[in-house]
Formats: sequence, structure tokens, C-alpha cells
Amino acid sequence: ATPTAVMVGTGVGASQGVLIKGGQALESAHKVNCVIFDKTGTLTIGKPVVVKTTLLKSMVLQDFYELIAATEMNSEHPLAKAIVEYAKKIREDEEDPVWPEARAFESITGYGVKATVRNKEIIIGNKSLILDQNIAIPVDGELMLAETETMAQTGILVSIDREVTGILAISDPLKPSACEVISILKSMKVRSIMVTGDNWGTANSIAKEIGIETVIAEAKPEEKAEKVKELQATGFTVAMVGDGVNDSPALAAADVGMAIGAGTDIAIEAADIVLMKSNLEDVITAIDLSRKTFSRIR
Ligand code: ADP
Ligand code: MG
Repeated sequence: ATPTAVMVGTGVGASQGVLIKGGQALESAHKVNCVIFDKTGTLTIGKPVVVKTTLLKSMVLQDFYELIAATEMNSEHPLAKAIVEYAKKIREDEEDPVWPEARAFESITGYGVKATVRNKEIIIGNKSLILDQNIAIPVDGELMLAETETMAQTGILVSIDREVTGILAISDPLKPSACEVISILKSMKVRSIMVTGDNWGTANSIAKEIGIETVIAEAKPEEKAEKVKELQATGFTVAMVGDGVNDSPALAAADVGMAIGAGTDIAIEAADIVLMKSNLEDVITAIDLSRKTFSRIR
């Protein structure tokens, strides 16, 4: 392609809300034969909501939520925001409730959070976090977790003073275009993979729903980047699509990093292409544009 063609391609991209940071990014995109999608905020809307609470011990729901909201208030995680929102909602009487003080707050990236509230030790997070703390998960808790996973929801455990007291089911709906985008990529001979920090059960349910065959779950940020490199080593030209801080190492490692416009600044900085409208379809727009610019056959 001539420099003029590259300029035109980049311009067309910009006019469609696909921000391409330079000619190299536009060129690499036409060779992409594998796209790795982050789950939360990329394939899903990224605005999770609490859809069900199961208490395993007798406790007033408002009191239960007061303890967990006080803890999650200190976390930036989308799941934390969902939990605090729900806690506000069930308080009904107050617009902006004041939560009790949380001491010794600790965030365990990829697992959950801990704090001391009203002299009680609160631990909120996934199954691994609870088991790592040597806290037993009762059978009815395990059953609830399994149910959330088959429903493509995320199950979060709440431990109060080392007893699993409740299970929250949190749902983050798929973006309406997710299925179609995966099927179009398939027709373009591009393989789709999903990578997420969420658990295997939930990840598999979501992947099945949208037609993605390869899933990597319970992945830490470094593992997302390692997966990119592994695929590159086996001859794939890899695009990574993500929105979070935890996606930025993978976005940087990919042949083409594509950030969701509504994502975090760190992801946008690490990427080669920014999908300004946050539409998944624009993954295809970017690849198409590159193919049109760089293909010899016109
Ligand atoms: P993702 O790739 O889906 O953004 P993360 O690596 O951020 O996943 O988190 C993985 C898992 O850790 C979440 O699915 C959740 O189970 C648990 N987790 C992380 N942060 C929190 C939190 N603030 N509260 C409760 N659970 C959390
Ligand atoms: Mg994400």
C-alpha cells in the first residue's frame, strides 16, 4: 500500500470511530487470524447487577449488605460497584447512605476483598479466595455457586468471621452484537478466544452462548499476556480486545491491541487501535479496513 492509501485508511477509520495509532497498526490488522476477547466490559456490557442473594445464616438482609457495602466501597472493581449499588437500593429510605467504617481494607487482585467492619472480619470474593483462607464452603453454598455458573452469572461468596454467610449472584449481560461478531469472524477465517479472570463455569456458559470454542478462565493479567505470546509462537497473528487495567499487558503484547473506548485509560494507552464507540462490530471494521488497504487484489 502507498503512504497515501494508508493515510486514507486511517482517515476512514477515524471517521467511523476506529482510531488507528499509525500505519503499522493498520498494516498488522490485515494479517490477524486470531482474536482474543476479554469477557467483562468487552463481550459483556460491563455494568453488572446483583440479581439474587442467598443467605446461609439467619441474618437481616440490610445488616448483611451494610457490612459488605462498607467493604466494597473501597474497591474500584465493577463487581464492587454492583454490590454497593444494590446495598443502596435495599436501604430504600436513604439516597446516599453512610456505611460503617471499614478497617484494614485489603484488595486481592483477581480474587476479592477483605476488611474489618464493626469488629467482624469480612471476606468477599470468589471460591479460591475463600478456600485460600481455609474457610469451609457449605454444600448449599456450593449448590448456589453451581447454579450461578450455569446461568452465566458470577457467584460471589461472603464470609463473616470465617463463616460463609451469603452468596451473591451477579449478572452482566452480553453486548447485543456479541454473537454476530463471533460468527462473522468465523466466516472471515478468524479464530475467536475468550480470556477472563472469572471462574471456569461462568466463562464456559458465556462462551457457549456466543459460539466461542476456546476459553481461558481464572486468568491473571500476566497470564492473559502469556496466552497472546503462546499463540504468536504457534504462528498466529493475534489481536487482543480489552477494556481493563488487567488487559493492558496483553494489549501491549498483541500484534494488534484494540481497546474499548469506554475502557480504562491504561488500556487505551496500551492499545494500537481504539474502538471509540465501544462497539464490538468495530473489531471487524478495523480488520476489513486493513484488508482493503493492504490486499493486493482489488
Ligand atoms: P475480569 O477479567 O472478569 O475483570 P478479575 O481478574 O478482575 O476478572 O477478577 C476475577 C474474579 O475475582 C471476579 O470474577 C470475582 O470473582 C473476584 N473479585 C475481584 N474483585 C472483587 C471484588 N472487589 N469483590 C468481589 N469479588 C471480586
Ligand atoms: Mg474487562
